[in-house]
This record gives sequence, structure tokens and C-alpha cells, in this order.
Amino acid sequence: MTAQPLPPIPFLDLKAQQARLHGDVAARINAVLAHGQYILGPEVRELEAELAQFCGAKHCVTVSSGTDALTIALMAEQIGLGDAVFLPAFTYTATAEVALLLGATPVFVDVDPRTFQIDLAHLESRIQQVRAAGRLRPRAIIGVDLFGQPADWPALAALATREALFTLDDCAQSFGASLNGARLGTQADATATSFFPSKPLGGYGDGGALFTQSDERATLYKSLRTHGEGATRYQVERIGMNGRLDTLQAAVLLSKLTIFEAELARREQIAQIYDRELGNLLTTPARVPNSRSAWAVYAVLFPTHEAREAAKDALGTAQIGHAIYYPRALHEQPAYAAAHDGTSLPVAEGLGPRILALPIHPDLTDDQALRVTAVLRQALSA
Ligand SMILES: *Cc1c(COP(=O)(O)O)cnc(C)c1O
Repeated sequence: MTAQPLPPIPFLDLKAQQARLHGDVAARINAVLAHGQYILGPEVRELEAELAQFCGAKHCVTVSSGTDALTIALMAEQIGLGDAVFLPAFTYTATAEVALLLGATPVFVDVDPRTFQIDLAHLESRIQQVRAAGRLRPRAIIGVDLFGQPADWPALAALATREALFTLDDCAQSFGASLNGARLGTQADATATSFFPSKPLGGYGDGGALFTQSDERATLYKSLRTHGEGATRYQVERIGMNGRLDTLQAAVLLSKLTIFEAELARREQIAQIYDRELGNLLTTPARVPNSRSAWAVYAVLFPTHEAREAAKDALGTAQIGHAIYYPRALHEQPAYAAAHDGTSLPVAEGLGPRILALPIHPDLTDDQALRVTAVLRQALSA
């Protein structure tokens, strides 16, 4: 008799989540269809109020994506040609792309080998290096809260104040995470997040939001997301973009928000199972002190590239979803070759060959998590 193969374990299970929420999502979508205000309808304002309250920010301005949130935040500071924007090299391309799109130069900074967050000491030396070279004007730091964990915002903010730099929190992976008891959203001059479907708070399409404590910035963000409009629609104050969140996405996100806290708690439980089962075998994620992660990604580090490849193959054979974030640091990517000054960033360069992300979606059961760890344990002992 042959044993029944076990069902695959998806890396992300948006179908299971949709099944839990289906009635509520459908009702909210039907309400939008009934009132017909597809652009900046009442659900957009309701979502902005709820998100601001959720993270304790004074203002929330929803936008069309996380990338547009980053772009609008930099546009509002008039960052462009000749400006240096400091950011970690180990992140998604969108973080750096926006600087180049506006004509500014991304300056890549290495990351901490344990938390994978931007390395403060290296950031300081990069700022001094750019000042000494005198070719670019240091303007902004984009801190990324990588994989769901917060960057060291108190230290980043202090450094930015000393250096008179604008701080932008790329919180695309980490909305819902907290640092020193407060949700992310108020740590930087502006915080940008994403509602891409696979993010901790994901919609059924593209979406994003900006958070700020500044009245002036919130007004600018609203203007920039609607083609730079002024007090009336056909008063054009500045060059902006079409960067609004659809009312239909806001309706979906309002529904998702009702279960978001429970989902964050569930992700934390799965992280604890992985920590417990894998901690003595490989490098599990180091927790940023005094923080709670949103666990967008649970990434482990293997001692060697060969061990990672063997584990990846074993997960593949067992039909267990996995992913590599990120195979190459940004400064090693062809698109950034011309912008990068050639500085080597050894930590960021060393992560790609050894890192592997495991499934951590809120519909993963304990049994499924234990199947993941059993396959990894066997692969590592082989
Ligand atoms: C997903 C992501 C973005 C971009 O968000 P989109 O909504 O897909 O545009 C930006 N930065 C980081 C770190 C991300 O993970």
C-alpha cells in the first residue's frame, strides 16, 4: 500500500483567507456598486480614518501602491537631480527605484547581519563619504522595516536630525508591527505602506498609504495623488500624478482590517513554532529589541549556499511553498549598476545565497508548520 501524498502547503493562502471573509467583502463591494463613487468614495475616507487610528498617526492618505506612496513622499520634499537618498541595499527594488525615477541618486548602505535592517554605523559613514565627495546633496534616508520587523527608528531619527535629512519609513512589509509599544506609522517624517495582496494587510489588487504627523505634508500628499490639484480640481498647483486608491480596494481593505489583529497574532504563533523547532539547526530571525513583527516574511539563514539549496530542493519535493528574498542585493542588479558608486556591501552581498523564506500566512495550521520544520530537519541531517 502506498501512503497518500500529503496536500501541498502554499507559501501564501489568499483563498483560505477569502473564504473566511467572503460574505463581508461581497457586502462591502456591493455597497460600492450601489453608490457608484468609484474614485475617492466614502470607503476611502473611512479607511484613512481607521488606518490612522490603528497606528496612531495624525494623517493617513491612501494612494495607488506602496511604490507611489514612496514616490509621492519624495516628490513632496522636492527631491530630485543632485540629491542623495540613503537606503539599505537589501530590500525590494521599489525602495531604490523611486529615487532614480525622480532623478535623485540612491546611495546603498549595508545591513546588519542579524536583523537584516539598515546598518547605522555604515549609514553614518556613507553620509560623510557623500558630503566629502561634494557631488551630491544628502537629502533623505529611506529606512526599510524589512520582513515585518522595524528598523532602529529612534537611532535613525536622531541621525537624520543631526544631519538635517528627511526620513521616510518604507513600511511596505511591516504595517501592523510595533516598536517600543507603538505601531509603526509615526517613527519617520513620513511612513509609506503597501496593500499589495501578499503584504500583511493586503487588498485584492494594488494599493498603498502614507502616514504623517504633519498637516502640510498630508495636504501635499492629497494634492500630489490627484495631479497636483489645489483647492479646486482645475487649479493645478504642482506636477503630481494619478495616485489614488480605488474605492473598491478601500472596501476590501476595510473588511480585511476587521481580522488584521487576529492575523498578526496568528503569524506570531507560527514564528514561535519555527523559532522553537529550527533555532538549534539554523539561524532563525533575530528579533529587533522591544518590537513586534508583522511577519510578512520568516526568513532563515543557512550556514552555506549548498545547505540552502538542499533544503530548498527538499521543500520543493514535499510541495511546500518557499521563496528567496532577495537573491541579489540591489547594488548588484544591472538596473543599479550606473547609479552605484562601487562600494562593496559584504553583508548584503552574502545574504542572497544563504537565505530562505518559509510559509507564514495566517491560515497555516500548526500541523503544516511542523511539516515544514520536519522536512527542513531531515534535509539538514542528511
Ligand atoms: C512591496 C514593497 C514595495 C512596493 O509596494 P507596491 O505596493 O508593490 O508598489 C516597496 N518597498 C518594499 C520593501 C516592498 O516590499
